[in-house]
Amino acid sequence: MEDRCDVIVIGGGIVGSATAYFLSSNPDFSGSVIVLEPDPAYTYSSSTLSASSIRTQFSNALNIKISQYGYEVLTSFHDLMSVGNDRPDLKFHAGGYLFLAETDAQVEIMKQNYSVQLANDADVVLWSQSELASSFPHLNVADIKLASYGRSGEGWFDNADFLNGFKRKAESLGVRFIKDEAIGFNVEKQSLKSVKLKSGKKIEADYFVNSAGSRAGKIAKYAGITMPVVPRKRTVFVFDCEQSPQGSAAVNMGLLPLMVDSTGVYCRPEGNVFISGCTPKEDLDVDFNDFTPNYTEFDDIIWPALANRSSYFEAIKVRNYWAGHYAYNVLDQNMILGCHPAIENLYFANGFSGHGLQQAPATGRGLSELIIYRGFRSLDLSPFSWDRVIKGQPFLERSIV
Ligand SMILES: Cc1cc2nc3c(=O)[nH]c(=O)nc-3n(C[C@H](O)[C@H](O)[C@H](O)COP(=O)(O)OP(=O)(O)OC[C@H]3O[C@@H](n4cnc5c(N)ncnc54)[C@H](O)[C@@H]3O)c2cc1C
Repeated sequence: MEDRCDVIVIGGGIVGSATAYFLSSNPDFSGSVIVLEPDPAYTYSSSTLSASSIRTQFSNALNIKISQYGYEVLTSFHDLMSVGNDRPDLKFHAGGYLFLAETDAQVEIMKQNYSVQLANDADVVLWSQSELASSFPHLNVADIKLASYGRSGEGWFDNADFLNGFKRKAESLGVRFIKDEAIGFNVEKQSLKSVKLKSGKKIEADYFVNSAGSRAGKIAKYAGITMPVVPRKRTVFVFDCEQSPQGSAAVNMGLLPLMVDSTGVYCRPEGNVFISGCTPKEDLDVDFNDFTPNYTEFDDIIWPALANRSSYFEAIKVRNYWAGHYAYNVLDQNMILGCHPAIENLYFANGFSGHGLQQAPATGRGLSELIIYRGFRSLDLSPFSWDRVIKGQPFLERSIV
């Protein structure tokens, strides 16, 4: 059995769904779009297993601009994605990231990042140890030399509603979401003709989008392309405190920040509880199907770091935990966007590492422009092209949480 469309999007997570939305909502595009998604419940998609936060505190200027657009979309999402009377509510919490620097090397990087952030209109402030102590008095800052805090333009939100909002709006604009899995391509010369599906069907298209998240490398291989994107496991822990600093009079910022400790451990409020995580000691590639949480990370890395940082975090209890995959770009931890020279009609949007949720609006918009106009019309995302990957020249993001 055969089907046909103008654009076929492989992977209906946040990146695929945002791309489908930006294509279908563009008045200059009248084509048909199909999104393939084998797991419509999104049980193992990074988008639903994410920590769902957005920041401007990056080291790379373009990542700052991408998040500024992401923030714009998140904060007007209920209007942008309304379908009839249904207006999605992302429960967006404006709250800053608080990065802590302990070593001279961390201080140096923080200062460099800050100058890039300032030059790109990010509302970030650097605090000395005493300024940090007076802003968040419950924190033990004895070992902290410098902190950076996002005063606005940062926060956290509901990831499932973010994904569903794009998806439902795209559907209302005519996009078809099909439950199926890509297992290969029919290729002629330098062009894809159709995608083969696990169901035995095939779908012909003019343009193909690889938005398969941590499985992007598999899709690339079907087209004979090797990409430096691998699955890396990240475990998220939900905990509550016997005595919570939430709402404490000592906290003059109203809401606790998303703290990224000098150890790399992060923690942020989520209603009455907290979510936390860290980079594993050995950050190894994992099997595509390995979603077993690394439970020992909590006792070995997270709890000691948090207990050292605040006495409120000495008595805490894990309530829930899960593991998700970063689609980790081993070259530079940044996305790979656009076509590879070997195949003229396969568009990639992969390798977001730890920041793809907030980048989905700018990525979806950029990818739709590449397909419709053959070039970027809004934000120039060309530094993320395959060019630097092929040349082995990193377009680095140093600030990976
Ligand atoms: C624990 C964790 C915390 C994170 N925290 C943040 C954060 O705070 N902020 C942030 O911005 N980002 C964060 N990220 C990163 C972010 O979640 C991802 O970068 C983003 O969700 C990637 O979206 P995606 O659509 O590319 O991938 P996914 O959401 O994984 O979607 C890809 C989809 O492709 C489908 N697929 C796979 N193979 C095929 C195939 N063969 N055929 C068809 N479909 C296929 C999958 O089923 C999947 O649904 C975090 C990630 C993790 C794991």
